[in-house]
Amino acid sequence: MKKIAVIGGGPKAAAICAKAHSFNLSSSERLDVRVFERDKWGAAWSGDHGYTDGVQRLCTPAERDVGFPYDQGLLDTAGLQRLFQEFSWNSFLIELEGGSLTNYRNWVDRGRKPPPHRHYSAYITWVIEKADVKRTLANVTAVSRRNGKWAITHEKKGIVKTSVGFDGVVFTGSGPALSGFDRDSDIRIINGVDFWTSPDQFLKKAQPGDAPIVIAGSGGTSAAIAAWIARNKREIPVLIIGNQAALFTRTESFFENALFSDDQAWAALNVEERISVTKRLTRGVVWSSVSDILSSSADISFRPGRVKSVSATQAIHGQPSELSVEVLNNAGTINLPASFVIDAAGFDAWWFLGLLPADLREAFQGVDPSETRKQREKTAEGIAEDLSLPGKFTGLHVPMLSAAQGPGFASLMVLGSMSERILASYVAS
Ligand SMILES: Cc1cc2nc3c(=O)[nH]c(=O)nc-3n(C[C@H](O)[C@H](O)[C@H](O)COP(=O)(O)OP(=O)(O)OC[C@H]3O[C@@H](n4cnc5c(N)ncnc54)[C@H](O)[C@@H]3O)c2cc1C
Repeated sequence: MKKIAVIGGGPKAAAICAKAHSFNLSSSERLDVRVFERDKWGAAWSGDHGYTDGVQRLCTPAERDVGFPYDQGLLDTAGLQRLFQEFSWNSFLIELEGGSLTNYRNWVDRGRKPPPHRHYSAYITWVIEKADVKRTLANVTAVSRRNGKWAITHEKKGIVKTSVGFDGVVFTGSGPALSGFDRDSDIRIINGVDFWTSPDQFLKKAQPGDAPIVIAGSGGTSAAIAAWIARNKREIPVLIIGNQAALFTRTESFFENALFSDDQAWAALNVEERISVTKRLTRGVVWSSVSDILSSSADISFRPGRVKSVSATQAIHGQPSELSVEVLNNAGTINLPASFVIDAAGFDAWWFLGLLPADLREAFQGVDPSETRKQREKTAEGIAEDLSLPGKFTGLHVPMLSAAQGPGFASLMVLGSMSERILASYVAS
C-alpha cells in the first residue's frame, strides 16, 4: 500500500481523494491518501480566507469537476461511471435540498452558469468529506526525509505532531501573493489576497473625482478586482497596469479546450510552443465573462507597463497625500497619481520550498534573484510525467509548476487528469 500526503484541502486534493477512493473500490491494490489542511476544506474559495469574497463566480464551467475529463486509466468505464455518480458536480447538486445553494433543477433552469466561489467551496468540502481517505485539519510546518520516506510535521493549537512513512507528497495551492513593486508602508496599498478580506472597508473612502484606483497586474486576480469595483463603486476610475500590450480575453473554444486533455497534441509541441500556448491560455488572460464586465464599464482602462514603485507624497495644508505610481514601459518612466493601489502581481507557486529541508531547498536557490529565477525555470521545464520535481529526491509532486507537462494541471481545467498523472505512479500494474 502506497501512502500519499496532500498538502492543502482544495480542488486538487478533492480530485486526488475522489480518484483514490474510486480506485480502491475496484482494485486489489490500495492507495492510502491523507489530506492536510490549515484552515478548512475549500478555504481559498470560501470568501473567508482571502483570494475571493466568495461571491465571484468560477470562470471555468462547473462540469470541469474533480473527475473531468473522465478518461480511462486507473479506472475502467464502470469505475468512471461510479466516480461520476459519487463525486461529480451534477451529483453534488442532486444531493442538495436547496437552502442557500442552488440545486440541480435550479442550476439547469438558470442556464448552468459557473457557480459562485463559496458554492464551489461547498462542493470541494463535500467531495473531501465523502471520500474514504484520511483527513487532518492542521498547518503543515515541515516536510522531511526519514528512513527513505517522507515525514510531515503539522501543528494545531500549539500541538506539534509528525506523521511518517509517505511515499509521495503533493503540494497544492496558489501560494501567498507575490510583491510586484517597491512601496511605502501605507494603508492605501494592498495585495490581491488581502483585498478580498474586506473590499468595502478598504475602498470606503473612494469617491468619484478622486485619482484612479491603480491595479498592478494583468491576470485573473487583477481583472476580478476591477470587475468588483465596476459593480460596487460606480464612477470611480480604475487603471489596470500590466506588462503586456492589452488585457487579452479567453473564450470557450474547442481547439483551445481540447489541448488540455490531448497528451499527443501536447507531445508534438516543442518547449517554446508549449510556453507560448500556456501563456496564451492561462496567464495574462481574462475569461470572457469577466472581460465583458470590464469592457462595458467606462471607468476602467488599461495601460501597458510595469509598476516599479509606489510612494506617498507629502500631505500639504491638511489635504490627504496622494499616492504616486512609477511606471516603466518602452516609452520611458512616468509617474501617475493614484488614490488606492492593489498589487495583483500573482502568487508564489514555489511557496512549498519553505517546508523542505535546507539541503533540498538550496538546490533551488541561486546566488542572486536572477540566477534563482533561471534555476527554477529550468527545474519547472524538467517536471516529470507524474508532475514531480526532477532531481535528488522522488515523490514531491508540484502540479502548480507543471506547465511543461500540460497547460491544465495547475488549474481546474482537467483535475481528473492531474490526479491520474500523480496516482498512477503509485500503482504497480
Ligand atoms: C479566487 C481564485 C479563483 C480562480 N478561478 C479559477 C477558475 O475559475 N478556473 C481555473 O481553472 N482556475 C482558477 N483559479 C486558479 C487555479 O485553478 C487555482 O489557484 C488552483 O487550482 C487552486 O486549487 P488547489 O487545490 O491547488 O489549491 P487551493 O484551493 O488554493 O487550496 C490550497 C489549500 O492549502 C491550504 N494550505 C496552505 N498552506 C498550508 C499548509 N502549510 N498546511 C496545510 N494547508 C495549507 C490552504 O488553506 C488552502 O485551503 C483561481 C484561483 C483563485 C485564487
